Amino acid sequence: MAELGEPPYRARQVYEALSRGLVTDFAAVTTLPLALRQALAERLSPVSLTEVEARVAPKGTARKTLFTTADGHPVEAVLMLVAGRATVCVSTQVGCAVGCAFCASGRLGLRRDLTAEEIVDQVLHFARLLHGDGDRRITNVVFMGMGEPFHTYDETLRACRLLNDPDGFGLAARHISVSTVGVVPGIDRFAAEPLQLNLAVSLHAATDELRDRLVPLNRTYPLDRVFAACDRYVKATRRKLLFEYVVLRGVNDTPAQITALAQRLRRPLYHLNLIAYNETGGAFTRPVAGEIEAMRDRLERMGVSVTVRHSPGGDIEAACGQLALRHEGG
Ligand code: SF4
Repeated sequence: MAELGEPPYRARQVYEALSRGLVTDFAAVTTLPLALRQALAERLSPVSLTEVEARVAPKGTARKTLFTTADGHPVEAVLMLVAGRATVCVSTQVGCAVGCAFCASGRLGLRRDLTAEEIVDQVLHFARLLHGDGDRRITNVVFMGMGEPFHTYDETLRACRLLNDPDGFGLAARHISVSTVGVVPGIDRFAAEPLQLNLAVSLHAATDELRDRLVPLNRTYPLDRVFAACDRYVKATRRKLLFEYVVLRGVNDTPAQITALAQRLRRPLYHLNLIAYNETGGAFTRPVAGEIEAMRDRLERMGVSVTVRHSPGGDIEAACGQLALRHEGG
């Protein structure tokens, strides 16, 4: 606006039109004079991502979208409509450097970090879809797509603040969850953030020996260090801490893993989510019917607060990175 010789409040008008009004075209920002709308349209694109492909699960409970960035990188996000909630799962990076053994995004390697605008645009895309569908709204955002959010901490937090901004998108911080695979300095920084955001830790294994193989970052931040950071987080925030555990049949659901898991998680404010693995054509398999519930019951009896989270995305390659990987010929 300064470059165009316009007063600063014009920028705010554009920001509000994009984040609250959900417009995708400067021509629709009717609070601006026509000449300014045209000048902006010549210089900028209000949307940083282009939809390439969308897949909808049977009964419409999930919709996965593949976008491309302006420089041609694939980005995935998923909208899940479950239990009256409309949750968007966003990506924070193109690919991922962590390289978890069971994850399609890891196979892409890390291409680049996404900007906060590219993260927020994934949410705005689905917000527009829902808005056109009976004026429904996004209720939750989870940072659990491609990438490790704490490897791009500043952009992740900037995206959280943009989504939360009461003058912008206005989503309550309590409805935003950031998921890390256990980047200890990130957990400590996150504990000191003034916003009441939720934290989730993707665990996937309960012993260092197994976790070193499944989540290679465990060699840098082994379980004792991760759990020490988790304890500090809970002490500092008094907030509930979620642990995500993708169940890989015969690998991390063994009696020894369950016992080790219970020892780690039997604590106030800790809660475990068990998620059945979505097969990605790799070496791992999904638990068969009833197994994951039996694992839950066992953990419950051992004093762990635990639920089975049903992912509606299995039919649409909703595990993170699957669509992007296929597009890249992976
Ligand atoms: S599971 Fe998450 S942290 Fe691990 S490789 Fe995939 S995107 Fe990265």
